[in-house]
Amino acid sequence: MDKHSTVEVLGCSGSIGVPRQGTTSFLIDHDILIDAGTGLCELPFERLEPIEHVLITHPHLDHICGLPFLVDTVGVVRSAPLKVYAIAPTLEALKTHIFNGHIWPDFSRIPDEVNPVMQFVEIQPGDELVLGQRRLTTVEVPHTVPAVAVFLHTPTGGWCFSGDTHQTEPLYSLLNSNKKVDYFFLEAAFPDKERWLADLAQHLCPSLVFEELEKLEDDCEVWITHLKPREADLIEQELKQYQGSRPLRILSAGMVFNI
Ligand SMILES: [Zn+2]
Ligand SMILES: [Zn+2]
Repeated sequence: MDKHSTVEVLGCSGSIGVPRQGTTSFLIDHDILIDAGTGLCELPFERLEPIEHVLITHPHLDHICGLPFLVDTVGVVRSAPLKVYAIAPTLEALKTHIFNGHIWPDFSRIPDEVNPVMQFVEIQPGDELVLGQRRLTTVEVPHTVPAVAVFLHTPTGGWCFSGDTHQTEPLYSLLNSNKKVDYFFLEAAFPDKERWLADLAQHLCPSLVFEELEKLEDDCEVWITHLKPREADLIEQELKQYQGSRPLRILSAGMVFNI
């Protein structure tokens, strides 16, 4: 494998409504998925089949809704189970509310429990998941359900995705530690006039993003994700008010980052 990895943005919108800009899903190289929102549904079959690992940050629908279709589409043609990694409360939510035999089949028991087409793997925040030369770690972030941010480190660089989050400290402590991060994807779901909603839904808005970036010492590039489409123009305008030293860029589906 080449030493560097790629992170491809399959989807990074806060909801639907803009063609080819689905909800959160990032593809690392050809085989690791971070979240499985509607952006995943843009991939053709031949790019779905090589996906081996799926890390889910939290069980909200905009981050998981492609997962039932992914396992249904590629499960039986794969020789090994599709591995789905998440913290315990997220796995529990997926088992109870999605793969429950009512909404969707329990693919962790199909065709049987010994050789299933999908395997749930519990991770603990702070654990390092080593997948070839790619090292994934997570840290808990505050949201309306238990949720994590994700770090990727490769021999040549690093990437961090905040997941869905409200204001937090541990994420920035890790970003400021000496492990290099080149790109930081940070969410901003609502405009400032809906800061009350950002607080209620445990998301960020531009003024909260500015406060969060005060904590960031690392000189990584910051890319903003998860804008609600109905307010995306307003959020972008508000983000332009940022007085900090680094530019804030808006993430879009189709972008590819070398890590
Ligand atoms: Zn969420
Ligand atoms: Zn979300």
